Amino acid sequence: MGTGSVGTRHCARPTLAAGRRGDTSTMNIPTAAALLADARAALPATIAVRRRLHRTPEVGLRLPATQAIVVDELRAMGLEPRLGSSTTSVTAVIEGARPGPTIVLRADMDGLPLTEETGLEFASERAGAMHACGHDTHMAMLLGAARLLGARRDQLAGRVLLMFQPGEEGFHGARFMLDEGLLDLPAGQEVTGAFALHISTRYASGTIDYRPGAMLVAADFIRLTIRGRGGHASAPHETIDPIPVAAEIVLALQAMVTRRVDAFDPAVVTIAHIDAGTTTNIIPETAFLEGTIRTASEATRALVHAGVRRVVEGICAAHDATAELETVPGYPVTLNDPAFTAFAAGVAAEMLGDDAVIELATPIMGAEDFSYVLQRVPGAMFFVGARPPEEDPATAPQNHSNRVVHHEPAMAVGAAVYAAVALRHLAAG
Ligand SMILES: [Zn+2]
Repeated sequence: MGTGSVGTRHCARPTLAAGRRGDTSTMNIPTAAALLADARAALPATIAVRRRLHRTPEVGLRLPATQAIVVDELRAMGLEPRLGSSTTSVTAVIEGARPGPTIVLRADMDGLPLTEETGLEFASERAGAMHACGHDTHMAMLLGAARLLGARRDQLAGRVLLMFQPGEEGFHGARFMLDEGLLDLPAGQEVTGAFALHISTRYASGTIDYRPGAMLVAADFIRLTIRGRGGHASAPHETIDPIPVAAEIVLALQAMVTRRVDAFDPAVVTIAHIDAGTTTNIIPETAFLEGTIRTASEATRALVHAGVRRVVEGICAAHDATAELETVPGYPVTLNDPAFTAFAAGVAAEMLGDDAVIELATPIMGAEDFSYVLQRVPGAMFFVGARPPEEDPATAPQNHSNRVVHHEPAMAVGAAVYAAVALRHLAAG
């Protein structure tokens, strides 16, 4: 994930009326404090399942061991998990006692290809795989929320669709689930909201950190082969040297970003890998470059892609080289719906107090495939702070580090916020 972000406390408590279509004043809605107390009481069970998951991380779209743990836990709650056909996803529905709409709560399931070096007694038992982005805690928090909601079916007006998805780390797992019909409910049922939490050591343990609009950015990838004509390094005029062309392109891309992109709608273009040549006296035939494009709006995304192509083709043409530019689209911008965001932040502030609910000034330059769900349903993704209190904010290992340690008590906050957002959303629907 990307740069840090200055936050402000959530002080103006927003209305809880987002999506409200009925009078809820007579409903018996459990208070946020009671949910948090129950989540804290259940924390040992949440920690236990999190540690089981943490020991056996799997990477990608096929996570059979992880899926088996999630399925066992859901069955133990009396739910009927359904398994994905194209991936090892799991869904389950918590049916409320009263009719109403449907809200999706999502947790991702996959680990990262890293070898853990935390020294934790429940560290990964699989070399080359680690839950370094905290997706183990996401599953544990969502299972905790499911238990809280299952105990309150009589207060649920509608249903909660639990979404456990593999392949968040670049494998488009959410899109597979959408393609399999995640949101295609029986006639008369409608998904009116979607909510996800992501844990992070960037923020103090127990806080909720969020922003309306762009929460995370779009992450696309480029691969470029510059084709010149090789020859002797002593006679460059008899060749078309792709190396100075590559150098010029790397610098010109940075100028393109700073001169063509609105500073308040930022973009990052990073060439992260260059490969050309073999030795001191040969001008190579080709140079290869690859990197990433990060943008916080779809408009800037399109502008930067066009700019990259223009710069690459223009500079290659100027030097009689040719360009083979491949653009690989990654996840789109994760856009938090402003009304849903205000509603969910209000629910969190009621539970945790305004000081613990922090609106971020800027998006995070990482990317998320929950963005695909938010393209279809109004909703939001928030962060749960889980930096251990003894860690210095400046040096605490971050998500995607093989030394990252998440503060487990924050999972009670996450479970309670998931449950409260669902209960309130349905009560309002
Ligand atoms: Zn993640």
